[in-house]
Amino acid sequence: MSSSGLLHLEYRRVLVAMALGVACWFATGHASNAVVASLFALVVLWGWQLSRLYRWFANPEDVPPLGDAAVRGVLHDVYVLRSRGASLDNSRSLSPVYRNESFESMREAAMIINARNKLLWCNSAAEYLLKINRVEEEGKPLRDLFPGKALKNYLKEQNFQKPLRIKPGPDPEFCMQLEFSRFGASDKLIFIKDVSEQDKVERMRRDFVGNVSHELRTPLTVIKGYIETLPSLLAGPNAALQKPLASMATQVGRMEVLIADLLWLTRIETVEGERKDDLVNVSNLAASVVAELRSAWPDRDIQLLAESGRPLRGDERELGSALSNLIVNALKYSEKGPVKVRWADSAVGPVLSVEDKGLGIAAKHIPRLTERFYRVDKSRSQQTSGTGLGLAIVKHVAVSHEAKLFVDSQLGKGSCFRLVFPASRCADAAASD
Ligand code: ADP
Repeated sequence: MSSSGLLHLEYRRVLVAMALGVACWFATGHASNAVVASLFALVVLWGWQLSRLYRWFANPEDVPPLGDAAVRGVLHDVYVLRSRGASLDNSRSLSPVYRNESFESMREAAMIINARNKLLWCNSAAEYLLKINRVEEEGKPLRDLFPGKALKNYLKEQNFQKPLRIKPGPDPEFCMQLEFSRFGASDKLIFIKDVSEQDKVERMRRDFVGNVSHELRTPLTVIKGYIETLPSLLAGPNAALQKPLASMATQVGRMEVLIADLLWLTRIETVEGERKDDLVNVSNLAASVVAELRSAWPDRDIQLLAESGRPLRGDERELGSALSNLIVNALKYSEKGPVKVRWADSAVGPVLSVEDKGLGIAAKHIPRLTERFYRVDKSRSQQTSGTGLGLAIVKHVAVSHEAKLFVDSQLGKGSCFRLVFPASRCADAAASD
């Protein structure tokens, strides 16, 4: 507000008070009454103005009381100063310095890389975790920090939905998990976690299951041998022993299948993170799996529709075991009706499906089917001598091939299990020749 504005600040209010005093003087004939009336009028007017001002201070979001021309000048200046302060606060909260400070305060290690995967920034937690100096590393490629093929392939594929597990240093126990998210013009924000402990526990569990399964094989072979030779050791046919021996042979057979499945599952899990890039001719693979199962189930109709001739990048043994598990399930859980195996292209990628017209599965069980040892119906699985690991194997094969497993099923009508692979896993038909 200008100085002239300040001089005229309250002139109108003073004039009103003086006019009131003069009127009172004329009315009463006493000059003292005029002074009292003027002062009283001024006190009332200033009091009213002050109360409006205090109300505004208490509620700063309200519009200021700008009614009086003179006071408007002062209040306007206060209002402008206040707004400037608020906008300063907002711009501070959005400034890069402010944002850096907030990332800096995080306990998680974070870094930002540009479209060419060069380090733009990292916080102190990342410096501490990776034992690096931000200033020295800025502008350098990320692969300098995480050497090896894993990161190179991950960045090449640009599929950041699944985090990347990596063991960057000479210490084989040190394991990190990197979670990428894109922002801006192809820049990436990466959160890095030390998952060494978690990785160790998972490895111990895998090793334990693998070792126990392996160790069980020898005693089981010995028991199986005795069960087979026992009848010949006994003098003459022994009817009382025939039934228990047959039952023991069945259970030993089941245990063998269970151990084989557990060992296979452990193996698939161990190599899950590894890249599977062999060119697999899925049509030929499906034909050989189907031929094998046709001879094991001679009275069943297994139809093969190989509509795509395109090979798939993957692991032939794993894909074969997934397909075999799906077909065996379709045969086990349907008494009659054909089992249709189909390898075809689709808009989203190649699809390997197995369809049956069997018992079907109620919707509530479908989300849990791939859990180890999950059975829809225990008695049904015991009759069919299932291990409860078949679909867990299928799921792991799907994960390691970036495929998705879809299950469509209706109780009493049948089921269709589909493995949908990403289109990027398909090579040209000529490539496998
Ligand atoms: P299992 O060895 O018991 O067959 P799986 O992991 O292969 O174990 O399957 C899990 C459960 O899913 C089975 O116990 C069965 O109840 C159900 N299931 C799997 N495939 C089918 C199918 N094609 N039709 C009906 N039920 C199925």
